[in-house]
Amino acid sequence: GANNTGNAGNTGGNAAAEGNATESGGGGGKGKVGIAMPTKSSERWVADGDNMKKEFETLGYEVDLQYAEDVIENQVSQIENMITKGAKVLVIASIDGESLTDVLQKAADQDIKVIAYDRLIKNTEHVSYYATFDNFKVGVLQASYLEDKLGLKDGKGPFNIELFAGSPDDNNAYFFFDGAMSVLKPYIDNGKLVVKSKQTSMEQVATLRWDGATAQSRMDNLLSANYADDVVHAVLSPYDGISIGIISSLKGVGYGSGDKPMPIISGQDAELASIKSIIAGEQTSTVFKDTRELAKVAVKMAEAVIEGKEAEVNDTKTYDNGVKVVPSFLLEPVSVDKENYKQVLVDSGYYTEDELK
Ligand code: BGC
Repeated sequence: GANNTGNAGNTGGNAAAEGNATESGGGGGKGKVGIAMPTKSSERWVADGDNMKKEFETLGYEVDLQYAEDVIENQVSQIENMITKGAKVLVIASIDGESLTDVLQKAADQDIKVIAYDRLIKNTEHVSYYATFDNFKVGVLQASYLEDKLGLKDGKGPFNIELFAGSPDDNNAYFFFDGAMSVLKPYIDNGKLVVKSKQTSMEQVATLRWDGATAQSRMDNLLSANYADDVVHAVLSPYDGISIGIISSLKGVGYGSGDKPMPIISGQDAELASIKSIIAGEQTSTVFKDTRELAKVAVKMAEAVIEGKEAEVNDTKTYDNGVKVVPSFLLEPVSVDKENYKQVLVDSGYYTEDELK
């Protein structure tokens, strides 16, 4: 194969994988695997794809890894291509979880099995397993962090907050938002948190394709319409790329200097720019999801379905995709801020100290 990455730098270190390492040199003796990822514009998906590719190659598979740059039609045709080329299994992180029903019927017709990666694929029976994180808990962690820092449990307040959610075509976005609102809503109801814009529903606060620039311009509008004579104290942000957009908007009107401190701002994915921003005292927190672990779980699921075995799952009730409840393996997300980023991200080898400079 052209991509002879061998086992170099593999974080996996599992005995079975190493036993087969020579196979990977030969390039895919066990057949083809298709990996469809949404976009390279966010680091996490690049790491996810790279990690899985390495794991699969170490096991002796040939990997077709594709990114669709957040264009649904691209992803569908990439998957069609993988089917045509005879992939044995498809691992898919969807762009729009509701747009793959037809193409996955084609996969099923060829007896190709599908693993949903990180994001649930909806409206199809043709998805065998789902590898993800506890997505409701991600939202709980984001909001609990704001709750702690504002001192809401100690009765402090009222504080002004604005809410952002992720892409409405991504099932995860609802889980994150619902998790966050399970913490925040009681304070909004009792007046300790005030959403001056009054935009509190998912439809009002969603950010199509998780786009940072879209979030930035929404924040510009929120600030000019509601905060001419007032300050915002906290922002619920579902994802680091969105947090960075929100921070640019805030800086544009003078937050982070003089008498206007940065509000407390959450995030997700522990992206480099956001960890740097946290170190610089701008973004306040993020949620780390170890993509190395997720890759391992997904690869194990894929091997199991190829071999006609059952994969290990730890949740069989949460992720109803409209046709079936997809058996899932949920990993634990971890809240990260200035206090613990070294321990969580550097000590675990996710980033080097140098990368964070
Ligand atoms: C993922 C998050 C990510 C977001 C934007 C979600 O589906 O679970 O980790 O921040 O997509 O890429």
